[in-house]
Amino acid sequence: MTGTVAQRIANIRSQLPTSVRLIAVTKQVPVETMRAAYAAGLRDFGESRIQEAATKQAMLQDLPDITWHLIGHLQNNKAQKTLEQFHWIHSIDSLKLAQRLDLLAEGRSRKPQVLLQVKILRDPNKSGWTIPDIMADLHQLEQCRNLKIQGLMSIPPLRLETAEIENFFEQTAQLADRIRLQNWSQIQMQHLSMGMSNDYQLAVRAGATMVRLGRILFADGSNET
Ligand SMILES: *Cc1c(COP(=O)(O)O)cnc(C)c1O
Repeated sequence: MTGTVAQRIANIRSQLPTSVRLIAVTKQVPVETMRAAYAAGLRDFGESRIQEAATKQAMLQDLPDITWHLIGHLQNNKAQKTLEQFHWIHSIDSLKLAQRLDLLAEGRSRKPQVLLQVKILRDPNKSGWTIPDIMADLHQLEQCRNLKIQGLMSIPPLRLETAEIENFFEQTAQLADRIRLQNWSQIQMQHLSMGMSNDYQLAVRAGATMVRLGRILFADGSNET
């Protein structure tokens, strides 16, 4: 990987359909680099830890039009802070967490936009709903009226073959279709957050509307081939 952050962003952008939102994953990326990404036109930043995000948000207060995305696992006891700090939460991974956020979001002027994290394959290292579990929880998710449920998020397990990753993303898209066909009113399925540096092209082909890219934008060229 070579080039400045601005060049990398331009290069990735040129490969993405204009309808796909590029979320720059900036965990462990210094704020100066984030400023360079902002100057290059990026407005969507993804962080996986609440505290790290809070520190950066304080340092970037002069850039008010950033949209902040939480992409990492969220603990129940951090739910209130999360609502204050993030516009989007990609990592809602249980009914309990959704209900807690819903309760806390009551009366807020801006409803939090959330995605439901699913795991299509058995993967002990990942959190999220299995397909049968999410289908069973939809009735209760429909009651979360203070959340804007916008779609699904998924992360493939490590070490899959290309065809398996492709299949994994296609299955995520099919699950979203299946839920959409049930015509819920609170549960919208217009977004699919899937695809990271190694597999975003496959994800886009399968219908991703948001890709979450870290290393391909920010990794130091010295340790890349
Ligand atoms: C770190 C991370 C990313 C970005 O991964 P890269 O391989 O650096 O592009 C995307 N999504 C989640 C949930 C992450 O934790």
